[in-house]
This record gives sequence, C-alpha cells and structure tokens, in this order.
Amino acid sequence: MGFLLNSIDSIFERIATSRVFTNKEVLRPDYIPETLPHREKEIEKEALVLGTSLQGVRPSNLFIYGLTGTGKTAVTKYVLRKLGEKGSEKGVKIHWVYVNTRVDNTSYRVLSKIGEAIGIKIPFTGLSTAEVYRRVMGVIDSKPSIVVIVMDEIDYMVKREGDEILYRLTRANEELSRAKISIVGITNDIKFVEMLDPRVRSSLGEEEVVFPPYNADQLRDILKQRARMAFKNGAVGEDVISLCAALAARDHGDARRALDLLRVAGEIADREGSERVTEDHVYRARNEIERDRATEIIATLPTHSKLILYALIKISSEGREATTGEVYLAYRDIARKYGLEPVTQRRASDIISELDMVGIISAITINRGRYGKTRIIRLQVNPEVITETLKQDGILD
Ligand code: ADP
Ligand code: MG
Repeated sequence: MGFLLNSIDSIFERIATSRVFTNKEVLRPDYIPETLPHREKEIEKEALVLGTSLQGVRPSNLFIYGLTGTGKTAVTKYVLRKLGEKGSEKGVKIHWVYVNTRVDNTSYRVLSKIGEAIGIKIPFTGLSTAEVYRRVMGVIDSKPSIVVIVMDEIDYMVKREGDEILYRLTRANEELSRAKISIVGITNDIKFVEMLDPRVRSSLGEEEVVFPPYNADQLRDILKQRARMAFKNGAVGEDVISLCAALAARDHGDARRALDLLRVAGEIADREGSERVTEDHVYRARNEIERDRATEIIATLPTHSKLILYALIKISSEGREATTGEVYLAYRDIARKYGLEPVTQRRASDIISELDMVGIISAITINRGRYGKTRIIRLQVNPEVITETLKQDGILD
C-alpha cells in the first residue's frame, strides 16, 4: 500500500511538473498569437474589407477559402478582435458574431447564435426557423447598426441543409431599413463553391481571399514563435522545429498539423521524463497522430465500407494484388457470411473512391489493354489499426 501511494504520488509529481513545457496551451489550435507571420497580405485584405464598418459603411460580404491549417480561422478572428478594439477606441460599436457551422450545424442554431450575440435569448426548441429569423432580424433592425456574421466551416451546414439560410442572409439587407448585415463565409473545401447556388456564390463572393498553403520555411517561423512561448529554454532545438515543419509542409502546408506534431512530440518527451524533445519524439508523434486519425475515420465508417476494408486486408495478407474486382468478390463473400445483403459492384466502387479520398487506401487506375481499365487498391494505414477497430465493432474476432 505504501509503495502504491508512493508510486501514484510520483506519477502525479512527474505530470504536475513538466520538464519541457512552460505553457502548452499556446500550442492548442484555438490559441491566437499576437502576430501571425506570413499572413500580412491576408490580414490586410480582410482588414480593408471589414474596416469600412468603422465609418458606418456596410462591409462587402467576404468569402474566404483555402486548405485546412492555412490560418483562415486565426486570421479572421484576429482581424475581428482588432476591429472590435479599434471600434471601442473610436466609440463605434461593431457587432460581430462568429459561428462554426460544424458545431452549430443547423440554420436554427446559427440563428440562435446570432441572437445570443445581439442579446436575445432563443429557446432550444419550440420555434420555427422562420420565427427565429423574424425575431433576430427584428432586433437587429431596431436601431442603426452593422452586424458582421462570420460563418466558419460553412460547407458543413450547406452539405447538411442546403444554402437556403445563406441565401436569406445575403438578401437580408433588402428587408432591413435601419441596420445592415455583412456575411463572412469560410471554407476548407474548395469544391464546395460549386455546390452553391450561383446567386449565393456571387453575393457571398463580393470580396474573396484565398489562403495558400504554407511552405516549410514559413511553417518553421510559425513554429519558432510558438515554441518560444510553449517550451522551456533549450527543450526544443532547431532540428526538431525543422522536422515538424518539413513533415507538415509535405502534408499540404498545414500549420495545425505542424503545431500538433510539436505538441505531441513534447508530450511524448514529457511522458519519458526527458528534458529535451528529439527528432525521434517527432517521428513517434507522427505515428501517434496518424494512428488516432485513422482509428477515428475507420470507427465512424458505415458497415459495408468496413467490410470492404476487411476484404482488402484479407487479399493483401494472402500476398495477392487487390483489384477492384478481387476486392468486390472477397467483400461479397464476407458480407454473406455475416448474413448481410452485399451492395452492388457499382456502389462498392464508389465506397472505394470514398476510402481513397479520406486517405485510408489508395486506388490507382491502370490500363490492362484489351482487358480494359481496373484499379489497384492498397492500404495506406497500418492494417493493425484497421483490424483493431473492426474487432471493437465485433466484425472481427
Ligand atoms: P484554418 O482555419 O485555415 O484551418 P487555423 O486558422 O485554425 O487554420 O490555423 C491552424 C493553427 O495554426 C492554429 O493553431 C493557428 O493559430 C495556427 N496558425 C495558422 N497560421 C498561423 C500564422 N501565420 N502564425 C501563427 N500561427 C498560425
Ligand atoms: Mg478553420
């Protein structure tokens, strides 16, 4: 007992006093630093558009896109924060609302958020969306004001509910007599633009800012700035920063990815009681992150997608080459074994494309002359990660 207490005590001691971090919080994705290196142009563009509100002029609607981790959310929140500060300095009250539609993913919830920001309480349920819309617009229009509504990860809501709410919001100024609203839409999904009604597209895109991916040098600067705040002196060397930057640059220049690598590498170093983060910690961090990501994706796949993965593992473990046809045949047998009606070959082929898109497999089309085209399918993640997840599902034993 005494030993147990002692060892628990020492675990707590070890965790309570990190050997590498001074402030790990600054590596979290929602932390916004005082300066954002390599985003000067994007900050300027957003500030020019939104800054007209300081003169009481409605800012143009703004459409922002770029891949994940290119700083869209950070830059926009940063500009809004500065705009609010400038407004108070000049005695202009600027109302802005930030909604992430991946979290608040219905029109009802988006409108409730807008309501909350302008000081009205909307009940969780019981009202129609149209009624909530009327109430919110009523309050907004009760006095002259400018309301900037930022909808981040807007593709999530549109994929779920279509672009009706966006259409209404971009048209709302026609019904308002005193107040004016501006919409800022942000998306990581570049193809999403094509899904929008052309009228929504053109009014949302009055102004546009595209965020390019970061290169390794830029990521290194971003990481250095954060590492200075997050780590103890001497705990992270240039080599570690460069490695995190290089790995994330290969991964479409994603700053979130770079920061995650650095944070997890630090956590691994900490768990080992090490005083320095090493390149080895970074490689292990990468494996840990990839594993978590793959597990999460696989766990949420529909059953037939899981069975197709199972078929692929089976074929690969027999040392055979997995063509679409082979995978389908193996999948069909497996589905039947589980008493399930197999999906059609056409649907299976779509599932394979979906799995390719999320990066769990790669499917390469090859031409087999007179036998036509086929796809060769390979796993892109450790098969163990898949079998473990399938076991938890009771699909495998
Ligand atoms: P996006 O919204 O484009 O997916 P984020 O704005 O969330 O990307 O950025 C991801 C992470 O990288 C956040 O932690 C953010 O603070 C950080 N980040 C992005 N760009 C920069 C930059 N130029 N300087 C410092 N940190 C940055
Ligand atoms: Mg974002």
